[in-house]
Amino acid sequence: MSCLSKDVVFLKAGGSFITFKDKPVSVNYEALKALAEALKIAHKEVSIVLGNGGGSFAHHVVLKHSSENPVRLLVKCQQATRLLNRLIVDYLLFNDIPATSLQTSAIIGYGMNTLRAFTPPLLNLVGNGIVPVLYGECILTEKGSVEIFSTEKVFEIVSNILKPSRILLLTDVEGVYTCDPKKCSNPELIKRIDSSNLNSILESLKNDLSRDATGGMYSKIMSMSELSRKTGAKVIVTSGFNHENAVNALRGEIPEKSTVIEML
Ligand code: ADP
Repeated sequence: MSCLSKDVVFLKAGGSFITFKDKPVSVNYEALKALAEALKIAHKEVSIVLGNGGGSFAHHVVLKHSSENPVRLLVKCQQATRLLNRLIVDYLLFNDIPATSLQTSAIIGYGMNTLRAFTPPLLNLVGNGIVPVLYGECILTEKGSVEIFSTEKVFEIVSNILKPSRILLLTDVEGVYTCDPKKCSNPELIKRIDSSNLNSILESLKNDLSRDATGGMYSKIMSMSELSRKTGAKVIVTSGFNHENAVNALRGEIPEKSTVIEML
């Protein structure tokens, strides 16, 4: 059975959504429930490649071990991200969603200084209606240094193999704002980011001090605008807590409260 005739959607369950980012190793089960409810409906209609961020599992481990030797940093980081990924996949399975874990660093790696992907496992899962769950992970370079690989970066590599019709980033806020909505006094939701306003938005977010190990909102917009340019796909950033919103976005409808990144 092949499901590649359906639209392919890359879906990120952000670390800020799926975990409590300021509380180490804590899953937000309300978020996980909303994610499962959305997937239960949408996985039958579109082919989903799910990726989860590392949130409070990865970031504090990276901070704790970043000054130690790279081997220790790598294994501790992978231990943390593996645990969160497994909790998510098991929760989805418990809710009858045919999901399975795909270890990012087992299908993406460096060879001759270039990032390479081993594609059959991913294609076979998606082609048979199974939801592969990749994740942001620490990856070893050929020289033995550790690279912190965000879910957005995973999507960039996977897009060379599988062309998404759209990309949906579920986070704990309604989209991209003029400033961090948890910290500034008058944040305004930016409804659309395209070639007419990309540079000015990046400029205003440049000095965002809340960046985490994968670079925060600035890096997210940089990488997603590039991915939209490369694939022609719309990127929708919205809150994951309203599962009907998420289902509609997976179907291609733009939620009222969201940011669309589209580089035509
Ligand atoms: P993810 O959920 O993908 O892990 P991040 O944690 O990197 O995403 O980014 C989401 C967080 O970024 C939100 O919780 C929010 O507080 C913070 N943030 C900082 N600046 C902004 C901004 N300009 N617009 C939206 N969110 C922002």
